[in-house]
Amino acid sequence: MALKADAILLLCGVTAGLPAVAAAADGERYDPYAKMVTGAHHYDMREVLQAGGKFVAEPVEQPDLSQLDAPPLSARASEPLAPGKLPEGWVQIGEVVQRREIAEGLKQVDPKPLPAWEDIEGNQYPRKGTVFLNFNGGILKSGADNSAESKSTLARHNHKYPVFNGSEATALTLIQAVQQDLESLGVRVLYLNRPSKTVPYTMAMIGGSWTDTNIGDPAGGVAPGTDCEDRDQRNVVYAFDSSSATISQEIAHAWGLDHTLGGDRIMSYQAGNNKHFGDNCQALCEEQCQGPGTIGCRLIHEIYCGEDSEQQNDLAELNKIFGTPEPDTEPPTVKLLPDSDLLELEVGESIEIKADIHDNYGGVGWRIKVSRDGVVALDEVDYDQVGAWYFTNLQAGVYEVVLEAEDHAEHVVQDQMKIVVGGASAPTTTDGGSEGEADTGDETAGVDDGSDTEDPGSASDGGTDGDSSGATDKGGCECRSSDQGAGGALVLPLLGLWFGHRARRRRTA
Ligand SMILES: [Zn+2]
Repeated sequence: MALKADAILLLCGVTAGLPAVAAAADGERYDPYAKMVTGAHHYDMREVLQAGGKFVAEPVEQPDLSQLDAPPLSARASEPLAPGKLPEGWVQIGEVVQRREIAEGLKQVDPKPLPAWEDIEGNQYPRKGTVFLNFNGGILKSGADNSAESKSTLARHNHKYPVFNGSEATALTLIQAVQQDLESLGVRVLYLNRPSKTVPYTMAMIGGSWTDTNIGDPAGGVAPGTDCEDRDQRNVVYAFDSSSATISQEIAHAWGLDHTLGGDRIMSYQAGNNKHFGDNCQALCEEQCQGPGTIGCRLIHEIYCGEDSEQQNDLAELNKIFGTPEPDTEPPTVKLLPDSDLLELEVGESIEIKADIHDNYGGVGWRIKVSRDGVVALDEVDYDQVGAWYFTNLQAGVYEVVLEAEDHAEHVVQDQMKIVVGGASAPTTTDGGSEGEADTGDETAGVDDGSDTEDPGSASDGGTDGDSSGATDKGGCECRSSDQGAGGALVLPLLGLWFGHRARRRRTA
């Protein structure tokens, strides 16, 4: 079916369901990191407007490397804490932490996540990536990894992670070495500026000690393992000793690499010089390193080195994820749906808004901002990559909705729309002429028959969708028209549009 819902106004008459994580239940499709969240983000706008900024993301705290030279190092020895305790369902194996079911050999991560997961914009390979090296410590929160929010499976909740116990000069040497380790990949290494929350990144905490995390046994560094092919994208890892190889190894653990043998290898425990990621199939270090059955991403390693090879090709795997370091010169494209610059609604009504985002590489992230009468009421990153927001109980006022996407080359792009609720202060429509056809200005609820043309570039996009992917999206919102006057009832197929568009993403090598 060809969906022409871009220009259709959606009014939802009933409550949207809460997002539910669709678990990949059976063993064959097991991948705890290839999360699929269905159903729009749901906001009661009366609640949002009364929340006093609760829905507005806090600003990003920027690093300050000059802190490393003051106070003196001698004054900075962290007080050793009692060993911590990992969250339920996780076990420590040496300096990797794994999900219990994998560590105990009950499950193996599937090399092929659900096709629908791969179709979510941002998840495709190759991606561009970002590593943020954090020397300034700070308060970390316990929870599923989210570098942007300083949340980590391995964090001691609300414990202040210490500043790196070395000089700024030492830090710069480490930074340079990590940059070299990653130089053949499409990954940037940041340390003077923390990335915005919008774009996903891996954060490495540099310094501190193992007792500054929640692991129970000593280690030189620690990372959440078995996120094969970096499906999560927002992991937090730790390097306690002042070794660049430890930093790079922990980062690569969070991208799905396991330990190998070889004193010249970053992924090895063995002492050595000039460590690097290997570009050959190298023997995995299982029994000798951490015990039997502990290779977290065995089935992925086998793609490159053969079944039962017990080997891993570091760079082949990393290049699949991050490609090569050519510059990314193409910004993402963003569009808010319904595709209308101005909507008018009655007080108390609801609306679902969707995102249509494409980028030439995987790794793009996005956020939504909603202001009422010039005051920001909501500003949240769509960490779940749902691309749909359901706003109920709209209060009177003039709203501006901004969708903002960002890639790993600092391309930040926006689309926006205005929603006038309650009519009184509605400005006359000023059609900027950017759309193919003038809005008539009376595009009130439900009257749009979908005949508005989109801009030429995306019109073909919207019209050629012959598949029925829309049917697979069990969005949380059973939508009906509101009962207000204009146009009457419409049951609209807007749900599913997101998946439909995503399925046509480009794969750019
Ligand atoms: Zn390791």
